[in-house]
Amino acid sequence: MAQMAAERLYYDCAGVEGSALEFAARVTDIRLDSHAADASGQKVQLWQVALDRTAFYPTGGGQPCDLGVLVATARSGAVLEVAVERVEEDEAGEVWHYVRKPLPEGTEVAGRVDAARRMDHAQQHTGQHLLSAVFLSELGARTVSFHLSPLRTGAEVVTIDLALREGSEKVSEEELRLVEAAANRLIYEDRTVKTIWVSREEAEAMLARGELRKLPERAGEMRIVAMEGVEFNACGGTHVRSTGAIGGLLVRRVEKVKQGWRVEFCCGLRAVGAAGRDYARLRELGALLSVGAGDLAGRVAGLIEDKKAAAKELKVLRKQLPQAASS
Ligand SMILES: [Zn+2]
Repeated sequence: MAQMAAERLYYDCAGVEGSALEFAARVTDIRLDSHAADASGQKVQLWQVALDRTAFYPTGGGQPCDLGVLVATARSGAVLEVAVERVEEDEAGEVWHYVRKPLPEGTEVAGRVDAARRMDHAQQHTGQHLLSAVFLSELGARTVSFHLSPLRTGAEVVTIDLALREGSEKVSEEELRLVEAAANRLIYEDRTVKTIWVSREEAEAMLARGELRKLPERAGEMRIVAMEGVEFNACGGTHVRSTGAIGGLLVRRVEKVKQGWRVEFCCGLRAVGAAGRDYARLRELGALLSVGAGDLAGRVAGLIEDKKAAAKELKVLRKQLPQAASS
C-alpha cells in the first residue's frame, strides 16, 4: 500500500519550462485495472502506478490530464519506456498513472510530461481564470462551470458557463467584444501568475473579504493561484507564469444552455489554429462562389434571393402548364 499521496511537482512549478516536466521518482504502489478498455471498447490490461512524486496533472476541475512516459532502467542497462495513457486522482488524493506494463513497487523511474499538451492546457486554463475574472468585473456574470477538451482536430472546445447578473437577460455581441478586449489588455500587460499557500483559516478570511469567490471542501493548506491585480482563485490546476504566456484570447460564440450562457473561447496557439481553420473554410466557400471572404455574405444573400424568385416563377409556370396543354 502507498504510505502517502505523491508530492505534486506541478503545484509550485507553474508553466512549461524545464524541471517541471521531467522528474525522477519511485514507484510506491501498483494495481491492475481489471475493467480497462481501449477506445474501441476492447478489453486491455492496464496497470495503475503510484509514485512518491509526480509532475503529471490528474484529470480534474474541468481540465484533462497530462500524458507522457515513465522510463525505468534495469541494472543490466535495459530500458523500459511505458506511455502514460491516463492520470487520475482517487478520493484519498493518490495520483494513479495508467500504463500497459507493470512497474513493480520500489522501481526508480524517470517521468516525462508531454510539453506541447501541457502548454496548451495551461494556456487554456489560465485564460479561463482571466476570462471568468473579466466577465465578473465587467458584467457581474459568475462562472459556474468550465470545460476543456484535449486538442484534436475539430473537437478542441473550451467553454465556460455563466450565470448572469440578476435582471440581465443575455450577453450581447458588444459585451462579448468588450470582455474580449479587456482580457487581451491584461494579457498584453503580462501580469504575474503565482501560487501561494494559505491555511484554511486564512482562506476563509479571504472569502469573507470577497477576495475569493469559493473554497474547496477539504481541510488543511490551500493552494491559491494569484493573478496580479486580477484575482485570487483556490485551484489545483496547471497555469502559465504570467498572463502574457496565455498568448491572446479569442471569444468565438455564446449560446443559451439550460444552466445559463455558454461562452466558447480559445487561447494562444489553439486560437491561432482555430482562426487559421476558420479562414481556410471561408476561402473554400469564396472559391466556390468566386468572391473574396469579405463579399461572401452579400453573395450568399443574393443567391438566396435568386432562389426565392426562381421558386415563385416555377409556381406560376406550373399553374399555367395545364392551360397551355389544353389550348
Ligand atoms: Zn486554475
